Amino acid sequence: MKLHIQNNFTAELPADSSEINTPRQVEKACFSYVTPKQPSNPLLIHASTEVGDLIGLSPEDIASNDFLNTFSGKRIYPNTKPYALAYAGHQFGNWAGQLGDGRAINLTEVVHNNQSFTLQLKGAGPTPYSRTADGFAVLRSSIREHLCAEAMHYLGVPTTRSLSLMLSGDEVLRDILYNGNPAYEKGAIVCRVAPSFIRFGSFELFYARNDRANLKSLTDFTIKHHFPTIESEGIEKYLDFFQEVTNTTLDMIIHWQRVGFVHGVMNTDNMSIHGLTIDYGPYGWLEDYNPNWTPNTTDRQNKRYRFGNQPEIALWNLYKLANALYLLINDATPLESILNAYSVDYQKKYLDMMRNKLGLNIEKEEDAILVERLTELLQLVETDMTIFFRNLSTIKKQDTAEIAFEKIKISFYNEKDLTEFILNNWCNWLDYYSKRLQQETVTDEERKEEMNAVNPKYVLRNYMAQLSIDAADKGDYSMVNELFELLKKPYHEQPDFEKWFAKRPDWARDKVGCSMLSCSS
Ligand code: AMP
Ligand code: MG
Repeated sequence: MKLHIQNNFTAELPADSSEINTPRQVEKACFSYVTPKQPSNPLLIHASTEVGDLIGLSPEDIASNDFLNTFSGKRIYPNTKPYALAYAGHQFGNWAGQLGDGRAINLTEVVHNNQSFTLQLKGAGPTPYSRTADGFAVLRSSIREHLCAEAMHYLGVPTTRSLSLMLSGDEVLRDILYNGNPAYEKGAIVCRVAPSFIRFGSFELFYARNDRANLKSLTDFTIKHHFPTIESEGIEKYLDFFQEVTNTTLDMIIHWQRVGFVHGVMNTDNMSIHGLTIDYGPYGWLEDYNPNWTPNTTDRQNKRYRFGNQPEIALWNLYKLANALYLLINDATPLESILNAYSVDYQKKYLDMMRNKLGLNIEKEEDAILVERLTELLQLVETDMTIFFRNLSTIKKQDTAEIAFEKIKISFYNEKDLTEFILNNWCNWLDYYSKRLQQETVTDEERKEEMNAVNPKYVLRNYMAQLSIDAADKGDYSMVNELFELLKKPYHEQPDFEKWFAKRPDWARDKVGCSMLSCSS
């Protein structure tokens, strides 16, 4: 197994002068060198051959002992020196001070096909940033991260990737619901892959300490290596950088809203500077369309990170990043105008995205009302978001409201909930919709194809992930494999997998792991 090693980050940015691996404050450094804990009996559960290919590894490499040892943290790859990142952040709206990679260890950077990647183990043991926690991860959360990161990629949502999922062979103690019932669970390690793991919180760390010199070094480094299209100098350079981060963050959020993904913990330390979905913890997928839903039990009270609030929170987080960069820019006005434009851009991009979901190519002013009415209707009774939009593509221009209704009826969780009032409202909307379709130039067949390319047929429903976890806990990894394969083609019809195009079963409605998750991963 041969990796093409590069170490720009550690070579160009300041290291922690201490290599003592105990929880502590780390000053004037972007990272601390740290060695992964040796797993007692690592076992490869699943690897993504596509991510392997991305970093220059063949299927034979992946099957090798070298791979098992390197990506479980058992041995250090030659000429590399693993490290944990220092960063800070706002958690649930409050300043949390230094956080950092408490259970993540970056192995190295690699280059393949002129692209560079950082390889990071999640769950490979404690670091100086572990605070009071143990630095490990459990099997259930690792399966969730591995499957979802790759599923998101195939859905076309910007995301960090996942190379491998391994058991460590060690046990980890967790209190899943923080209710005084800790239990031992299987420890696991995922290898994540991204251009870098730099977060908004990386910049906030130096800002909070008024460490302008290191803030500048980190920002200059990030722009030089990861934003090569920025050619401006001085203050302009930092503004262009902020504009770019704002754009990519906005695009990511639009994708989340398109597929019904709820991140669950949009703290500023979980916001990638590349606009990639990062840190798959208590995330979830909308089943019934409910903008007020969050899977995260830790956020049950305020629902800060609910589906419908994600665009606002991304903006809030961008304000925090802007605050940090202000230290380099010293002029609030241009930063504010970028932030102000976000809301306007969001409205426009959201409407465009929804038009695509509805198969509307021609822009009509009244589309905003059509979309608004629809999102109101979807909330009247429990309606499955994925099934609804997928089936909407089967509606034809000449369909009557009654015929159209038959095509989407299956997406309602309980048909008995449909009062006459609600039925009438649906019929009105469908009537309006088919008239609106008549103004489009494409054929019904063409539109169906276009709509099916943005409305997935298969997503990683919360109960699906949980079923694969239950089986894996008993040593059966076949479902992890099956879901991984299924979710590689989320927009395709896959008749063999039709059973996964179904509403959430009733048993999963209020089950831990399915609709209720915590940060205890
Ligand atoms: P999260 O909200 O999961 O992104 O985590 C917030 C912070 O807590 C980050 O600094 C993590 O590295 C840290 N953290 C979470 N879980 C653990 C753990 N099991 N051991 C050590 N640090 C952790
Ligand atoms: Mg995190």
